[in-house]
Amino acid sequence: MNIILLGPPGAGKGTQARRLVEERGMTQLSTGDMLREARSSGTEMGRKVAEVMDRGELVTDEIVIGLIAEKLAGNAGGGFIFDGFPRTLGQADALGALLDRMGQKLDAVIEMRVDDEALVARITARSTCGNCGEVYNDLTKPIPADGKCSKCGGTEFKRRADDNEDSLRQRLMEYYKKTSPLIGYYYAKGDLTGVDGLGEIDEVSGAIKAVLDA
Ligand code: AMP
Repeated sequence: MNIILLGPPGAGKGTQARRLVEERGMTQLSTGDMLREARSSGTEMGRKVAEVMDRGELVTDEIVIGLIAEKLAGNAGGGFIFDGFPRTLGQADALGALLDRMGQKLDAVIEMRVDDEALVARITARSTCGNCGEVYNDLTKPIPADGKCSKCGGTEFKRRADDNEDSLRQRLMEYYKKTSPLIGYYYAKGDLTGVDGLGEIDEVSGAIKAVLDA
């Protein structure tokens, strides 16, 4: 089963994708994670990518489609969760073509609906475990009092360079200008289901599970 998690920055796509990996053995393909890896590689491409990301703008379609095509060639048995991809209509068309070529299809596009005010609060409070990537939030899921990650025991936590209010506003602008048309695109294809992304993590997981098992 191949699915897309669609929604603005901070909607909880990464958190839910990680759950699906654990519960269903699916493979998470996060272009944001791939680009963060590229930027830490110290190459010229990584440096350019870092500048674009820190401004809260989108990296070119060519780069992200290339990254995804490479990962799809590895073909996952349990299916793919596309997290943060596609983000433009061009990327959506390219994904359709890549899956076609592999004789595969998209089974669902889940739109995670959240209110913009909540996004700002969520994102500016967000941190992740430097070892396993578990996501924490100062407001809703604080780092345990003993300072150890509840998943792996790691003690280093980091905040993303682009998780600040200025960059977030730009990321939201990019979302509304370039990514939100995908809601209509996948609706017209008959693939879209919306879930309320504002509830507790378990409630949102339950809503996603209901869509996937329907
Ligand atoms: P994310 O971790 O998904 O929030 O992505 C962080 C940043 O990486 C975004 O603000 C963009 O600069 C870049 N990025 C991630 N995925 C894409 C994509 N599919 N297309 C273009 N830029 C992307």
